[in-house]
Amino acid sequence: MARYTGPVCRLCRAEQKKLMLKGDRCKSDKCAINKKRPAPGKDPKARAGKRSDYGVQLREKQKLKRIYGMQEKQFGLFFERALRTTGITGENLFVLLERRLDNVVYRLRFASSRSQARQVVLHGHITVNGKRVNVPSYLVKAEDEIAVGETSKGLVIVKDALKEFGKSGVMPWLQLDPDAMKGKFLVSPRRSDITDLADIKEQMIVELYSK
Ligand code: SF4
Repeated sequence: MARYTGPVCRLCRAEQKKLMLKGDRCKSDKCAINKKRPAPGKDPKARAGKRSDYGVQLREKQKLKRIYGMQEKQFGLFFERALRTTGITGENLFVLLERRLDNVVYRLRFASSRSQARQVVLHGHITVNGKRVNVPSYLVKAEDEIAVGETSKGLVIVKDALKEFGKSGVMPWLQLDPDAMKGKFLVSPRRSDITDLADIKEQMIVELYSK
């Protein structure tokens, strides 16, 4: 299936949740969710109706998939891997998603959104343990060092994104040296550490895939 190329704010409006897909705009008054714009393309009365269990489970999966900027097939492969891993499947899924290199680049403030991080990785601007890696789905592991490549340190989008570090820092399982433009993935997070996605009900996604 092709990657979605339409207006991304529409995806947030469909879920009636801030999926944080547009960097700085998401924190501004211009955000469609802040403006309380309704979900697109549906009768408001129909929207108000009760969703089936399947409908609720599907929406949870769509939200998580869209937040991490993944396509259906790849998300399914991540779920299968989470299922095969020892532990609680929903939590395993979150850990795997957090280990994606594009996500780590975003979390380390080298990009202002996950989609921008994906581009930064694809264009070869990122190194892992000193080696260039241009695969957004590459899974980072504990103690890996993630850095902006030497020849990419002048990139304006990276410098601009790094300004966010001064305001919000990084998640507790990461460490960042903003001047050197390098960071570390200290340890895989626990589900409870991923506080900005605390409202996602991953158990519903597990139930959806169990059907
Ligand atoms: Fe979603 Fe960001 Fe658009 Fe707001 S600005 S609707 S959070 S993508």
